[in-house]
Amino acid sequence: MRRRLAGCGRSAASWMAEPQRVCDVLPEDIASDDCLTSYTHIYSPDLLKDQVALITGGGSGIGLRIAEIFMRHGCDTVIASRNKEKLTEAAKKLSTVSGRRCLPLCLDVRQPESISAAVDETLKEMGHIDILVNNAAGNFLCPAAVLSFNAFKTVLEIDTMGTFNTSKVVYEKWFKDHGGNIVNISATLGYKGQALQVHAGSAKAANDAMTKHLAVEWGPSGVRVNAVAPGPISGTEGFRRLGGPRGEAAGLFQSIPLQRSGNKTEMAHCTLFLASRASSYVTGAILVADGGSWLTSANDASKMMGYWSSEKRDK
Ligand code: NAP
Repeated sequence: MRRRLAGCGRSAASWMAEPQRVCDVLPEDIASDDCLTSYTHIYSPDLLKDQVALITGGGSGIGLRIAEIFMRHGCDTVIASRNKEKLTEAAKKLSTVSGRRCLPLCLDVRQPESISAAVDETLKEMGHIDILVNNAAGNFLCPAAVLSFNAFKTVLEIDTMGTFNTSKVVYEKWFKDHGGNIVNISATLGYKGQALQVHAGSAKAANDAMTKHLAVEWGPSGVRVNAVAPGPISGTEGFRRLGGPRGEAAGLFQSIPLQRSGNKTEMAHCTLFLASRASSYVTGAILVADGGSWLTSANDASKMMGYWSSEKRDK
């Protein structure tokens, strides 16, 4: 169901008397990795009709909701990551709810050969690729002084090199001659140097630069390259791992200009905008979709260290 927003400084009684504000109407979402039980289109339902999107990390969280919303706009999808069982289950749910085709494929974005094989399989099965969403990533909280060399390297390998590897393979095999749209899922962590996030913040900052470099080099081939930078998004692994539920319960989200976390469907709508002809003259852009969070959120390293130590102790 479409959710009307509590908060925004209004009493329950005032909802009855006053017209609803546009900013208070959120798109439907559910916290689990399941499909929506109802959906209200904002865009034309055939916005992506008969297009094909390859979505890395499309079997869970934000990536799964992006796949669903794309499919509800007429797109067929390929969801690709390491865990075949999870992907197969997700693909079944996605096809059932949308009536579109969803192909689950195994790949590791750190291994160009596995991407190459998945892209060949996509072209064999689907015939073309119109959209690539680089969504696969890994993240956790960890102070820089404790972070192992290997942990830092792994996050850079998945988030940054994975985005480059996948973009390059898709470009060489299809986009170079046919054009296409790339949307990278970024983050705002590097904007202020978010405490305990040097790994993901550095990786996503590199991706934001890559978004612009590739937009410049591949624009003449008809390839647009853009990014969505989410803030804290409820119902995701990222949100759980980065202390979202505890922060929300402690009222920390009141300091966000829009006073709440975002939802996965909102991120999917931003991605849909950038992946579709709705944004036909946009390239090299980073769409920050965080309710204004990074402008006002706290970044107190010693407080975060306290939170991190207590989480470790509780586990
Ligand atoms: P998630 O559910 O954990 O999604 C990450 C996906 O990446 C998983 O489906 C995982 O699938 C895949 N993946 C991880 N390593 C991979 C690898 N080496 N090769 C291929 N696939 C790999 O997380 P999420 O929270 O929805 O995050 C999605 C995106 O949004 C990420 O780029 C994240 O940085 C960004 N973001 C999220 C938030 C938030 O609040 N959640 C905030 C800002 C930015 P397998 O395990 O099957 O490989």
